[in-house]
Amino acid sequence: IVVFTSNKAWWPDWARTGLSEAVPFVVLIIALVVIGGSLPERGAIAPDPLPTVERPRLRPAVVVSVTTAGLAAVLLTSGSYRYGVITSITLVLMALSIVVLTGTVGQISLAQAAFAGAAGFTLSALTTDLAVPFPIAPLLAACAAAVLGLIVGLPAVRIRGTQLAVVTLGLAVAIERFVFRNNSFTDVGGNLIERPSLFGIDLHIRAGREIARWQFGVMVLVLVTTATLLVGNLLRRQTGLRFLSVRSYERTAAGIGVNVAGTKLFAFALSSFLAGLSGSLIGYSRGQLSADSFTAFVGLSFLAFAYLGGIGSISGALVAATFVPLGIGFVVIDRNVPFIAERYLLISGVGLVLTGVFNPVGIAGATRQNNRRIAAWWGKRHGRSPVETLTGQGAAVFETATPIPPRKDRSFGDVVLELQGVSVTYGGLCAVDDFELQVRAGEIVGLIGPNGAGKTTLLDAISGFIPYEGSIMVAGTSVDDAPPHIRARAGLGRSWQSADLFRDLTVRENLLIAAEPRANASTLLEPIRVGPVSRGSDVIDSTLMRFGLQETAHRRPSELSLGRQKLVSVARAIVANPSVVLLDEPMAGLDDRMSRRLLADIGNIAGSGVGVLVIDHDTDFIFEVCDRVLVLDFGRVIAQGPRREVRSDPAVIAAYLGESTLLHRWESAT
Ligand code: ATP
Repeated sequence: IVVFTSNKAWWPDWARTGLSEAVPFVVLIIALVVIGGSLPERGAIAPDPLPTVERPRLRPAVVVSVTTAGLAAVLLTSGSYRYGVITSITLVLMALSIVVLTGTVGQISLAQAAFAGAAGFTLSALTTDLAVPFPIAPLLAACAAAVLGLIVGLPAVRIRGTQLAVVTLGLAVAIERFVFRNNSFTDVGGNLIERPSLFGIDLHIRAGREIARWQFGVMVLVLVTTATLLVGNLLRRQTGLRFLSVRSYERTAAGIGVNVAGTKLFAFALSSFLAGLSGSLIGYSRGQLSADSFTAFVGLSFLAFAYLGGIGSISGALVAATFVPLGIGFVVIDRNVPFIAERYLLISGVGLVLTGVFNPVGIAGATRQNNRRIAAWWGKRHGRSPVETLTGQGAAVFETATPIPPRKDRSFGDVVLELQGVSVTYGGLCAVDDFELQVRAGEIVGLIGPNGAGKTTLLDAISGFIPYEGSIMVAGTSVDDAPPHIRARAGLGRSWQSADLFRDLTVRENLLIAAEPRANASTLLEPIRVGPVSRGSDVIDSTLMRFGLQETAHRRPSELSLGRQKLVSVARAIVANPSVVLLDEPMAGLDDRMSRRLLADIGNIAGSGVGVLVIDHDTDFIFEVCDRVLVLDFGRVIAQGPRREVRSDPAVIAAYLGESTLLHRWESAT
């Protein structure tokens, strides 16, 4: 590659500029993508350290006040102040693109300026060469940015975290050098953009000596407000839940049926569309574009200011856009305190570090937290408690579990999970060896074995998280070639050892996303949908009730005990009406009361015609609840059969005695 790229004579004229800088990045990206995996490995990624997210709510009073303030700022200012106001409004979309991608989906992109630039230069070509009118031209230009965003987002399907940041920075530099600074694509003197006009009204930013006309400002305000409301509506709905589930735990999201790769790509496309719209408006506000407006460094500073403002909420985007260089906050400081303006980036850099360390929720997040503290203090003074407390009504729940109605579409005894000759190897280690299993509808099968026996590996193979040999059928359909989310949709439910609830979603929303994990054509209409946030409420409500979780429906997982979290994890596994569920150590960490409750729930799940495969170290529990038990040791089944036979099998006792005396404890207790 080095030899080839250093011989520029072999390349056509348009490809020569910036090629030697761009190619190493492309090579790096290809290498990382090849090395990466479509989902993180088990335990590879700890819950993400991103700041908490504020789910958007549509509050008409806030929308009207903010829009009125923006309108007043446009109409009551003039000259460079008005230019600053317009720049800030324009850059709301840029900050919003970062809130969507990084704040909500957890994907770090340093290429936002490249998306804006791509749209800006496309806008120039559309308006000057093809005479495409406003507002079609900026929308088409934003679509071009969205296509670029999809391409840049492709590596994100297989890499994440800082590696993704490096890749997107590399792509931003490559695009800047190879496209924006390539005179085959851009003019040396800058690319012209035609004046926008609508229904005969001139919307150009300048007229004579006036550097910022109010007509242009109002047009920008209308576009940005509309786009922000539409995106806010999208984030409130099922797409927002999907985004946050991917941000929390990619594996768990895939395990309940969310198409993680598709969700990430959609987020990249949406985010780059917003950045592109912002770039188009920047283009109109300049009238002529040069590469300097969209360098990789500019992209970095956008991300920095978005983080300072607060990447977890739309209000954070408004704060960020106010203080971004050339925005109104900057203009005010520049005019009044030039000493600070001259050191603006340095001071913001220090602010960024302090925010990262002490206040990751940014300025908007901190303001919101303070407001809540004040409201709590005020409520307390007036005898009101703003914090809802659990009344204890749920206590009755520990005693009784409501039966789940039987499935109508399946007969008890049908095979719902079948494994034939399944083997998994890690390098030279055979973790699961030639495993055979059938689970029938209504049956509870237990899988026990000492630490390292291969139990979780087997569940991961069934879920599609790791490659295996052999064949697996779910509800009569082969799933060997299916990724985890398709297996979930084929009828495979799963709960997780550490509950793995999506931390930014309430209990109810955790169930909601599992009940409707797929995106479809109607997803595209979500931005304009009115009415309740999601369908399927009856199923969710009845599931919450059956598991005694009504009281916790609007709480986030961090507010619940581990026991309740595990209940939610099991409820989430069955809410989509699976044929078979895999329960991974459901009893670990539960107290007696909660264990009894879960025991009854598992019985109920099987009683409704669902096949259950459960692994746990608690042999008392396994031998009490399961119809059949398999014992795994070093990846091989050493005993299987009805629970009474298995528990007295000498091979089983020997395997366990090597590790613990659990089985003996159980035997003496019974
Ligand atoms: P535990 O009860 O402690 O969770 P387990 O029965 O679930 O154990 P697994 O975690 O499936 O056992 O591990 C089975 C074997 O595979 C162990 O020897 C383990 O060290 C090995 N193993 C698991 N994951 C990997 C991995 N990613 N790479 C290499 N070896 C692995």
